[in-house]
Amino acid sequence: KALAELVAGHVVDVPDFPQPGILFKDITPLFGDGPAFRQAIDAIVDHHGRDSFDVVAGVEARGFLMAGAIGYATGAGVLPVRKAGKLPREVHAASYALEYGEATLEVHIDALKPGQRVLVVDDVLATGGTAEATLSLVEQAGGMVAGFSVLIELAFLHGRDRLAPREVHALLTV
Ligand code: IMP
Repeated sequence: KALAELVAGHVVDVPDFPQPGILFKDITPLFGDGPAFRQAIDAIVDHHGRDSFDVVAGVEARGFLMAGAIGYATGAGVLPVRKAGKLPREVHAASYALEYGEATLEVHIDALKPGQRVLVVDDVLATGGTAEATLSLVEQAGGMVAGFSVLIELAFLHGRDRLAPREVHALLTV
């Protein structure tokens, strides 16, 4: 459909990045095209409905761009989900496995008010490890995940299975 084509038309496939055998989806052309970026952001908000979330969480770093835009467009608060060691105060942390080694994401312990509903956004859903860690952080902070949105879902990696039964929305599924 139109949105999938919009995203597909603004992504560049980069072979062997960041390591041999990985086909990296570079979505920076979508961010660089103002009308296309706005259309993608509006589609995410329309899909969930403005009243379904209180806060939008974006995963460092490309998710920040999406969360900032959604927060501004809707008046929702923005929760930056950061890589380990970046936040200055006490944090909740969630670690997850990468192909080689481990990564940790963090949020401040007081980042959410009890029961706040959080829309989680990122550019690409691959194995789902990042999104699952973000889910853990939202819940550790006392919130609940209202849904997930990504620009691109790599369906063959089955990331959405790790997030069930929560809603996972992708503008483009490959
Ligand atoms: P996952 O944890 O395996 O689902 O990987 C998702 C995370 O890695 C997201 O934060 C993405 O930004 C990043 N990522 C994984 N694969 C790609 C890709 O092909 N293009 C851009 N980002 C990717």
